[in-house]
Amino acid sequence: MKHSTPSLDINLNAVKHNYNIIKKFCNKSEVCGTVKASSYGLGGHNKIVNILKKSGCKRFFVANINEGIFIRNNFKSIIINVLNGLNKNEEKIFKKYNLVPVINTISQLKKWLKFDKDKKRLVIHFDTGMCRLGIQEDNINEVIELKKKINEYKEVILMSHLACSGDKKDKYNEIQRLRFEKIKKKLPGYKYSLAASGGIFLGKKYHYDLVRPGINLYGGNQNFNKKITHVVSLKSPIIQINKLKKGETVGYSRTFKAKQNTVTATIPMGYADGIGIRLSNKGYVHFKGKKLPMIGRVSMDLIIIDITKLKNKIKEGDFVSIYDKNFTIDNFANLTRTIPYRIITCISKRYLRNYKN
Ligand SMILES: *Cc1c(COP(=O)(O)O)cnc(C)c1O
Repeated sequence: MKHSTPSLDINLNAVKHNYNIIKKFCNKSEVCGTVKASSYGLGGHNKIVNILKKSGCKRFFVANINEGIFIRNNFKSIIINVLNGLNKNEEKIFKKYNLVPVINTISQLKKWLKFDKDKKRLVIHFDTGMCRLGIQEDNINEVIELKKKINEYKEVILMSHLACSGDKKDKYNEIQRLRFEKIKKKLPGYKYSLAASGGIFLGKKYHYDLVRPGINLYGGNQNFNKKITHVVSLKSPIIQINKLKKGETVGYSRTFKAKQNTVTATIPMGYADGIGIRLSNKGYVHFKGKKLPMIGRVSMDLIIIDITKLKNKIKEGDFVSIYDKNFTIDNFANLTRTIPYRIITCISKRYLRNYKN
């Protein structure tokens, strides 16, 4: 029997489809899987890593070393790169779990070259304009000085990350690519990687040897390419229906006042589940294609919706949709001017997750 709590449907086949779309588009480049933050919130016990692996993905990116350990405990053979780098006292942990640190600074580089005796894989991140992670332009000569040691590695990947790839027209994309080209010229003969989801759809010259999609695998930012398909749907049961008389108010601080007799429904989700408080009196959910507005303030665990127009067609226990293939995570993100990344990475741990093939 199914619980009457909010639940997520996660379509693993759609993840595979999106992986294949990217693969086809990139053609010659290796398509890695960015699975940080537990596969953008969808990961539950590595279901996403597993489907990507089955789709042919061999190389994965996480942000944090703990994420890497968690995945390694379930998958022995895949390559796991840790974007946040080689930080204090981490050398032995990287070795123990066979994780690859993405080298972000000169001191990390020196430390790892000295510590790592295997000389299998080296990944170095260069900053071309994010000012976040990666070796900065002024320090590139120090990398060149270490070239002999770098060349001891079987495989060397030089990577960078684009700041504005979500906007195809942004001139900064090309500025960063040209900076990356300069680095490539100074350090030739390795493998190169520049593009995440947005960068992939900027075109061939952004692909290089490896691409690192994240959000597009999970069905977000469908505007990058029409073939990217929706992956995750969230629905919630109605747990109570109330009648509200004209002039009465709804929720904390009484931010909604009924202009007429109104029928409301209460759904068990709130800001504790990552449903932004900014959706108060602003968001909406759907029932059989009909829009039902959220009224009053979003509470920690509850939201009230106006169901007056469907009052005879909807009953306690029915499910309303928060997002699905018709009202996507991109659409839902737009409601509060946030981004689809934020929508899915904040999905509550207390929701049921149904993985579908
Ligand atoms: C998060 C991240 C990615 C994936 O980005 P998407 O926009 O989700 O495709 C790739 N590379 C780096 C360095 C990242 O931080």
